[in-house]
Amino acid sequence: MTEHRILVVEDNEDNMTLLVDLLVSLGYSVLSAREGQAGVDMARTEKPDLILMDLSLPVLDGWSATRMLKADPVLRTIPVIALTAHAMMGDRKRALDAGCDDYVTKPIKLTELVSRLEKYLPPKNGESHA
Ligand code: MN
Repeated sequence: MTEHRILVVEDNEDNMTLLVDLLVSLGYSVLSAREGQAGVDMARTEKPDLILMDLSLPVLDGWSATRMLKADPVLRTIPVIALTAHAMMGDRKRALDAGCDDYVTKPIKLTELVSRLEKYLPPKNGESHA
C-alpha cells in the first residue's frame, strides 16, 4: 500500500462526498471523520499522511482539533490543511494561528486542492498524482 492516506474531517455531507470522490479519483486513500474529536482520535490511530480540516465542526471545532494535533509530538508533523469559507477572511488567520499548515477555500476548486496536496505530499516511489 503506497498511496497517501488523507483524513477528511468535515461535518457537511455534501462537502464530504465531494471531497471523498475527488480524492479517490486522484488516487488517494481516504479516511473520514464527522466531528473534531473523532478526527483527532482517528489521526492518533491511523496516522494519515495529511489532514483536510473543516473549521466549523461539532463536539470539537477545527481550530481546537488542530491545536491538539500540533501539541502532540507524534502527530504534529502531519500537514493540516484547513477548509475555510471564502467569505470568512478571519477564519484563515485563526486557522494558521491554530497551527494549520495551509488552507483551501470553499467552495473547493480542483486546481487549488491539487496544488496544496502536491505541495505537502511528495510522490511516493516516484509515482505521480498529477
Ligand atoms: Mn462544518
